[in-house]
Amino acid sequence: MWTQLALAVALVVTIWSTPSTTIRYDGHEVLQILPQTIEDVHKLISLAKKYHLDIWKSPRYLNETFDVRVDPDQITDFVHDIESLGLKADHWITDVQKLIDEVTHTRNRRATFSIGAFNDHNSINSYLNSLASSNPRVTVHSMGQSYEGRDIRYVKISNNVGTNKKAIYADGGIHAREWLAVTTVLYFIDQIANNPTQDRTIEALLGKFDFYFAPVVNPDGYEYSRNHDRMWRKNRRPVVSGCYGVDINRNFAYHWNPDNGGSHNPCEEVHSGTHATSEVETKILQNFLCSHSNLIAYLNVHTYGQYWIYPWGYTPILPSDYRDLDHLGRTAATAIRHTHGKVFTVGEDTRVLYAAAGGADDYAKGACGVKYSYTVELRDTGVHGFVAPQSYIIPAGEETFAGFKAFATELIHYEHL
Ligand SMILES: [Zn+2]
Repeated sequence: MWTQLALAVALVVTIWSTPSTTIRYDGHEVLQILPQTIEDVHKLISLAKKYHLDIWKSPRYLNETFDVRVDPDQITDFVHDIESLGLKADHWITDVQKLIDEVTHTRNRRATFSIGAFNDHNSINSYLNSLASSNPRVTVHSMGQSYEGRDIRYVKISNNVGTNKKAIYADGGIHAREWLAVTTVLYFIDQIANNPTQDRTIEALLGKFDFYFAPVVNPDGYEYSRNHDRMWRKNRRPVVSGCYGVDINRNFAYHWNPDNGGSHNPCEEVHSGTHATSEVETKILQNFLCSHSNLIAYLNVHTYGQYWIYPWGYTPILPSDYRDLDHLGRTAATAIRHTHGKVFTVGEDTRVLYAAAGGADDYAKGACGVKYSYTVELRDTGVHGFVAPQSYIIPAGEETFAGFKAFATELIHYEHL
């Protein structure tokens, strides 16, 4: 009996303490630096590249911080270099692993799906299937398979009345570690499909639009981020020996250019790929975006920084219809602010400071003609960054969905739909 018990305990201990391949971030800091000029921003980006650092956030406007993760061996040298530029580094997160552990500790680890939890890819797909089988408004479809063979699913939500409707599409999880983007798209799905509060606005929107939602468009990266490396961003294709993954949101075939906000180096977080559309996930998304000619709006959902921004990402030159995009973005941001007080900045992707070519939003607008194409960066602005706690899921869903409803409602009036 005791032997069996001891064996059982030993087994449990072994399972729990299996030297897993989980990557740890003990002592890693996230520094916030406030650049004074555009030149400062460029110098900071070069410096981060020199140290091969993980840039968490580049400022899009002056008076915003440059956030960067630094490993313990590099902190002294890096801070010295920052100071020699005449800048000051604030130690925002002093131990990334501690933050991950705190958030994980309070995490709901149930395998069953919940709108208020960070669910795994399998249970998300099962949820989409069960929704489709129980709700006549919902159909579930596959966009295709990821590099590792995971099914990239999306739902279509329609009241099935009328023809030739315009459509709105939103997706999440293109960057693996941005889990709150996944939960927020799932929140949208639940609200529109089930309309739990019998909101008449939702019924009105379904009278004018069909909706498409894909909660996890980079499932390999997402699962890797859940199981092995909380800070993973890219997909999981082996590129060169020892380095995996391409940043899908730098890989789209519209003015693709690794020298413009991306990287040629496969070991870096923003690797743009060896050529445009080198990744199967990019190809799948491009096909989806261009094959639905009724799409009028697209939200590519990310964390963090609280932005509602529009193309172009590859150039500071504004699109000719930027006033329309700006107006609709401001409508969304106002509704967001009125929900939980969060302030979202609206503007063009690049706006002088930060360019990134090869993004999904540029492709949707430039290559597929989806007029209202946005990148939405959810909360927060400097508390948890990428390591959003479970307690953010519902409020982030509520405020972003309020923005989404206001946006779609205004779109009906603005475009005379
Ligand atoms: Zn992102």
